Amino acid sequence: MPQIDDKLAPIYEEVVRRNAGEPEFHQAVREVLESLGRVVAKRPDYLEDALIERICEPERQIIFRVPWTDDKGRVQINRGFRVQFNSAMGPYKGGLRFHPSVNVGIIKFLGFEQIFKNALTGLPIGGGKGGSDFDPKGRSDGEIMRFCQSFMTELYRHLGEYTDVPAGDIGVGAREIGYLFGQYKRLTNRYEAGVLTGKGLFYGGSLARTEATGYGNTYFTRAMLQTGGTDFDGKRVVVSGSGNVAIYTIEKVESYGGKVVACSDSSGYIVDENGIDLDLLKEIKEVRRGRIGEYARLKGEGAYFVKSGEGSIWDVACDVAMPSATQNELTGKDAKKLVANGVIAVGEGANMPSTPEAIRTFQQAGVKFGPGKAANAGGVATSALEMQQNASRDRWTFEQTEARLATIMRDIHDSCYETAEEFGAPGDYVIGANIAGFIRVAEPMRAFGVI
Ligand code: GLU
Repeated sequence: MPQIDDKLAPIYEEVVRRNAGEPEFHQAVREVLESLGRVVAKRPDYLEDALIERICEPERQIIFRVPWTDDKGRVQINRGFRVQFNSAMGPYKGGLRFHPSVNVGIIKFLGFEQIFKNALTGLPIGGGKGGSDFDPKGRSDGEIMRFCQSFMTELYRHLGEYTDVPAGDIGVGAREIGYLFGQYKRLTNRYEAGVLTGKGLFYGGSLARTEATGYGNTYFTRAMLQTGGTDFDGKRVVVSGSGNVAIYTIEKVESYGGKVVACSDSSGYIVDENGIDLDLLKEIKEVRRGRIGEYARLKGEGAYFVKSGEGSIWDVACDVAMPSATQNELTGKDAKKLVANGVIAVGEGANMPSTPEAIRTFQQAGVKFGPGKAANAGGVATSALEMQQNASRDRWTFEQTEARLATIMRDIHDSCYETAEEFGAPGDYVIGANIAGFIRVAEPMRAFGVI
């Protein structure tokens, strides 16, 4: 198991002590601190002025009550969160997650990851994250609207295009962003387009934002494959999830000649040996908001459904795995199975989907492993491009935006690759991403003094 350098171990212990009961946050911090030993060995000045301790402590944490009325007239109570983690690079930036599993530890881990991810994009955005334990599943449009309005009625005072710019994440898509933006506009009496990203195309949204996370992960994973002299063409690929990230990963991988044979949702996974029919998947997931089992029923021959709890999607043999569902969905056991089945590359579309044991298993087996904070940065990078368009009251074409995204992903890949080499860990994209992201945030923090 990788160790934390002696000089950094007390920082980790303090994080665990002060953030009790938040295992995902501990996991995210631990992984970064394991990488930073190599930095402080070369540059002990980074240990000064509690720079690393300050990065591990959110600048501000907001927790609030969200009351709303359901369709039966009953009052419901949820809890809202926004963790404004680090603004050294720019306004806080990161999505909102609406899911029953949300708690302060989950939002902190996501916000912490977002600091490094956003720094890697090379664009001027700080790190933040928010959300609620609200469960949108089975809720009517009216209920979703009333929830979003109540959530924004509290949060709006903490936002602003120069302050904090939320977007979507699990459970928050174009519909929710629309309701949130409408309420922000009403409360502030300002048309401040740059306060939220992931907006609809009719009111300041960017073309290619919907596709950006999945496309970006495909570019990143393709760049990793190319360092080994290969590509997606003819590869068998498994993409977990079936939300926005998964759907556009499948689309891009198929355009490069890869064959995606499986995807999933919380009810289970489907396998289609003929390659996933994207139109059918989009119809089920984007239009009907249905369950993944419907795919196998409608597709018929060559396709089957495995219920959740009766098997793991990672049992499906593939050359490339792209986990795009949620944190810790791919365990050490899954990783061993993937390695035994000959996987050569893993690109994380979700945030922290592989457990530390899984990452170790991949790296020891020589599998190219792209961590989420680098591989899935295309979503937030395109959010920053949306902010640019809003600030200049402009609108770019799909091609223009996608071309910028492709360049950004190539640059992220190259900077992770080169940083890993510079710090004596060639081919280790985890170390590369953590160190490259850290240095970009640490330098402005130092320039600002102790704040
Ligand atoms: N939720 C996405 C992420 O994890 C996007 C955030 C954004 O666009 O601000 O990076």
